Amino acid sequence: MAGLYIHIPFCRRACHYCDFHFSTQSGYVADMVGSMIRELQLRKDYLGGEPLSTLYFGGGTPSLLHPDDVRRMIEWAVQLFGIKVDPEITLEANPEDLTQVYLNELRLTGVNRLSVGVQSFLDDELRALNRGHSSSQAADSIKRAQDMGFENITLDLMYALPNSDESRWRYSMNRAISLQVPHISAYCLTIEPGTYFGHLAKRAKVNFPEDPVAAAQYTMLCECMREAGYEHYEVSNFSLPGKSSRHNSGYWRGSAYMGIGPSAHSYDGTSRQWNVANNHTYMKGVAVGRGYFEREELTPEDRHNEYLITGLRTAQGISLQRLWEMASPDVSGKWSVALDEWMQQGLLHANGDALTLSEAGMLVADRLITRLMI
Ligand code: SF4
Repeated sequence: MAGLYIHIPFCRRACHYCDFHFSTQSGYVADMVGSMIRELQLRKDYLGGEPLSTLYFGGGTPSLLHPDDVRRMIEWAVQLFGIKVDPEITLEANPEDLTQVYLNELRLTGVNRLSVGVQSFLDDELRALNRGHSSSQAADSIKRAQDMGFENITLDLMYALPNSDESRWRYSMNRAISLQVPHISAYCLTIEPGTYFGHLAKRAKVNFPEDPVAAAQYTMLCECMREAGYEHYEVSNFSLPGKSSRHNSGYWRGSAYMGIGPSAHSYDGTSRQWNVANNHTYMKGVAVGRGYFEREELTPEDRHNEYLITGLRTAQGISLQRLWEMASPDVSGKWSVALDEWMQQGLLHANGDALTLSEAGMLVADRLITRLMI
């Protein structure tokens, strides 16, 4: 199963928490689209002839693109790589962009799944995050998209926001659930250096929630989603039956994917490569066919670590047999002790060959994974 990720490196404004790659200067979107099509052409053999199962426009803000540009990129991808029957084609969108006209044109491009960046249903939280929409705009945009035939919609929420508490978080979750979308992703606010929140945190200017608050909100999230019928299939992702993200599930299963656009990553099963995170350097490099990416061959240790990082975060978990195949005498004793301890603490379950995290384990997934890395 091969996937194509297309990174659209433009946003209207910088959200206060965001450290993704984007520029707020968008006067050269058309040239960037041309460069990305050129990159598709340069790398037409990257996936070894496997047709695409999924396409994902992420960013940045893909809904800044004109639908004609979206359609053009999909057409080029299909022409160069081929596409399987019933592909999943997702576009990330900000609510303020999902007008009736935009949605109407988007329907004709092949996009059949929307990922809407809502983050919160409280206007003061949206302002604190520097989002460009209100809570009612977010709800209206989703209803409008549903009315126009987009059934496959996911929305993003964030918890552990400044000044958040249980009732505020419950309010946002309930509003999200009431929209009857088949998929919800919820991420803990992390304070990244170099962001506006990062600067505020350094100067202790904002009251960011402590870890126990984040943990309590995560537990509430899991309960709320379960009660509403969503399956918890990855640490931060919940779906109604059969509606998990096929594209992201490919990443977590270790399938090959190609990422195009500045800062996009690619994986072909044995190596990783990542494009330069600078729009102009990227465009210059693509124009001459070199100097726009770096590449590394993965060692068996790298592949073990990636398998853990991606697999253990999912409901399927990882294979115990595969884990022990990588256990050198140096680490096998430490791993045995750690696994026993975590099972006794109810953080991990072993079921046949599958090792999976419990809900409590998902809360500390990064810490556990780090202990099993080589
Ligand atoms: S969160 Fe999304 S819209 Fe906001 S700055 Fe980051 S990429 Fe842009």
